Amino acid sequence: MSFTQNDHSGLVYYTTDSFCSTGGVIHGFSTRLGGVSQGPLSSLNLGRSRNDEPDLVRENYHRFGDALGANLDRIVMCQQVHSDTVRIVTEADAFNDLYEPTRFEGDGLITNRPGLTLAVFYADCIPVLLYDPVCRVIAAIHSGWRGTSLGIAGKAVMQMSQSFGSRPDTILAAIGPGIGPRCFETHDDVPKAMVQTLGASISPFITPLLDQKYQVDLKGIIAYQLHSIGLLPEHISSSDLCTGCHLDLFWSHRKLGDQRGNQAAMIQLLPIS
Ligand SMILES: [Zn+2]
Repeated sequence: MSFTQNDHSGLVYYTTDSFCSTGGVIHGFSTRLGGVSQGPLSSLNLGRSRNDEPDLVRENYHRFGDALGANLDRIVMCQQVHSDTVRIVTEADAFNDLYEPTRFEGDGLITNRPGLTLAVFYADCIPVLLYDPVCRVIAAIHSGWRGTSLGIAGKAVMQMSQSFGSRPDTILAAIGPGIGPRCFETHDDVPKAMVQTLGASISPFITPLLDQKYQVDLKGIIAYQLHSIGLLPEHISSSDLCTGCHLDLFWSHRKLGDQRGNQAAMIQLLPIS
């Protein structure tokens, strides 16, 4: 299964075909195109912490919600800290206002409540959405190299199983746009941390270069983790878009530093009609 690029009046975003064909959720991975923010934040900045004008960010949320066909009024987000903390959320966790402070730290959100929008933010780190259409449970995960080395996506699947009875072989996964291996050159601290926590079986996703440097395929490792925990290969979709290679479409922290906005991945469970 693959990803589709959508264009809603100039707002460009990606969806996963498997989620769309199954139905029951609204979801999307934003790009930088189609908003109203200016300068380095031009234009669809969905980050609240990028020193953007709040009114412009609110308008960007409005436009992204319009494109997805979703009301984003009941949104849940967390203070992302590159952890493996995944939290089950309910209506009580929804923001009353886009600019209210985040209520907890973590890098993953799970819910079985229709109408709640789960949001994670990315500008190289890998956004992952999970959807169990049988038990009707969704998750949004922020998996940078630290979160990936801690196995956060697999931990989210385990929490979905333990708390809601989800079976891994019915869960659909969408591994979104993010930094690709050719743009993710690291020193040996990253591969060492990966192998230490995940085992030597992830070695095929690490390519040694000259000068003690390495290329690490984060999306490949996340897909491997999800497969290892029981997701079916045909249920795992992975975007081949690299945020570092496509600065016309995405902000990349590695390429742009702090002169950038934030993309978001969002998912919302629809009520049973
Ligand atoms: Zn790249």
